[in-house]
Amino acid sequence: MRSIDRTLSASLHSMITDADKVAVVTHMHPDGDAIGSSLGLLRYLQAAGKQAVIILHDKYPDSLAFMVGDDADSIIVHEEKPGEAAAAINSADLLFCLDMNSFSRAEKMQRILEDCTCRRVLIDHHLNPDTGKFSLVFSETEISSTSELLYHILMDMPDIGGDAGKLPVRGAEALLAGMTTDTNNFANSVYPSTFMMASRLLAAGIDRDAVVAALYTNYRENRFRLMGELLSENMKITDYGVAYMIIDRAMAAKYGIREGETEGFVNIPLGIDCVRMSILLKEEDDRFRVSIRSKKGTSANRCSAMYFNGGGHELAAGGKLMKGTDLPEGTAAEAARLVEARTMEFLKNEER
Ligand code: 5GP
Ligand code: MN
Repeated sequence: MRSIDRTLSASLHSMITDADKVAVVTHMHPDGDAIGSSLGLLRYLQAAGKQAVIILHDKYPDSLAFMVGDDADSIIVHEEKPGEAAAAINSADLLFCLDMNSFSRAEKMQRILEDCTCRRVLIDHHLNPDTGKFSLVFSETEISSTSELLYHILMDMPDIGGDAGKLPVRGAEALLAGMTTDTNNFANSVYPSTFMMASRLLAAGIDRDAVVAALYTNYRENRFRLMGELLSENMKITDYGVAYMIIDRAMAAKYGIREGETEGFVNIPLGIDCVRMSILLKEEDDRFRVSIRSKKGTSANRCSAMYFNGGGHELAAGGKLMKGTDLPEGTAAEAARLVEARTMEFLKNEER
């Protein structure tokens, strides 16, 4: 990553100094990086004496509850308390949007974010950020995660002064956890700056073993039973080297699968030699959620943007197929046909 612009850091510091009430928002279906960066910022702001609150589109998965710990009271979930969530955003003097490149990523909160009149700061690592909507933009794509970007930003704040030991411990843990999940535990999107962050946090006494154990040794058995069925029965590999798996509602119900419990599944088929792109579809009421991962040379981001109503990063992107429009019948079989046809078209065009 490039180093953080001094002028931007100074502007951010004065915006925080001037603010009393601060709202922190992230993308819908928050993942480890969304929750990690939000908590890292919340804990920094609270230590600086601000009234800070996180507003989520929908609740974080149970698997990330260890990160939240005692701070559940500082989180308002829009899906549960829409009035309170809107009031918290509308009464803030300063709003942070983390790990999202456009307000549309907060789906049902999009209008509230667009209409809110306070200063807005974007901190994000996705491609194509919607920068026009913000007073201040920290956008960096050559970086592991929003948690890492925020870590570097906070390290430049005068009260931290480059000393990781001055970050609130629970905030630093959250940032380390967020970076760890977005890099798939240092397997991808790792840069020199990423190791620098990890090194400084370890030197400051952050317990990485505990973070890794909480993230990767606490799943319910169901996750692995479902993974077994998906890999043995469900996964298809097309002639174009696209592996895809579909978790419809019946299958999710069979294993009692909860939000966040299929995290990481989409990466597995990339281990197969002939596979260059892997897609996981998960059925919801009005859509199939799409997760895409690709190997170098194939753009998950472009495929998602062109064919799956989404985007993200070059090798990791997401999107959706809406029932009724993309999928007139709204069935898994129809979604499978569409995935095969659209990825074939995409890869044929890419080869030209
Ligand atoms: P995941 O597959 O883990 O849900 O998401 C992979 C990446 O793509 C993440 O960085 C995520 O923020 C992004 N992403 C997921 N869904 C969408 C979407 O619907 N639209 C866009 N623009 N990005 C998405
Ligand atoms: Mn992220």
